[in-house]
Amino acid sequence: DEDKPLYRRVLLKISGEALMGDREYGLDPDMVNRVASEVRSVCEQGVEVCVVIGGGNIFRGVSGATTGMERATADYMGMLATVINCLAMQNALERCAVSTRVQSALHIHAVCEPYIRRRAIRHMEKGRVVIFAAGTGNPFFTTDTAAALRATEMGCDALLKATQVDGVYDSDPLKNKDAQRFDTLSYLDVLSKDLKVMDASAISLARENKIPILVFSIHKHGAFRDVLCGRGRYTKITD
Ligand code: UDP
Repeated sequence: DEDKPLYRRVLLKISGEALMGDREYGLDPDMVNRVASEVRSVCEQGVEVCVVIGGGNIFRGVSGATTGMERATADYMGMLATVINCLAMQNALERCAVSTRVQSALHIHAVCEPYIRRRAIRHMEKGRVVIFAAGTGNPFFTTDTAAALRATEMGCDALLKATQVDGVYDSDPLKNKDAQRFDTLSYLDVLSKDLKVMDASAISLARENKIPILVFSIHKHGAFRDVLCGRGRYTKITD
């Protein structure tokens, strides 16, 4: 069956920048709605979905630190930025009738649930999309690492990383027209070749817990569903 998902429970990692669309900063509502509809189409196939969203479209700890701000404080600001993105995504999903819960690693009781592992799993079993906010809750980490951590905790069969291009290349395909795309890669290849996919701690965590990482383009319509069914262009990272 061409349209049968190969995975039962997955985590989708979306960078903050992906939600920016063509803008310089913040959120593009069209882009947020598009990603929401992609998530909906996967939920309709019965796949359990959770999501980690970055905050780079609003604030990044490293850039805050370059202006003289204390790094930890800047990182907490970055984590708060992810909460804004998660609320936008929750709103877009609920508008297309997908039931959701936001769970945050930093407790913000008025707007979302605190992160509770077993409760998050229960939500997914009930068909709700769980959106994880505030990364790992710790400064000096990234939302890529949070994605690998939550995917492990949730017992996900795959971690899907939505990027600007349709997989991992040996050099930046937006700058080099001869860049070669990989269909498959090992975790160790990514680490030793220092390929810019996810940071090393995220790759190591996925490797230790044997969670395949599927890298695909956020710009290709229907790609999330296609990749889950083993169709289309993407890079699969495994052992
Ligand atoms: N951040 C953090 N700890 C985490 C996750 C994120 O301190 O566990 C902060 C960090 O400052 C980072 C910002 O939040 O720059 C936004 O996250 P990230 O850069 O991963 O977002 P993305 O690049 O995916 O948009």
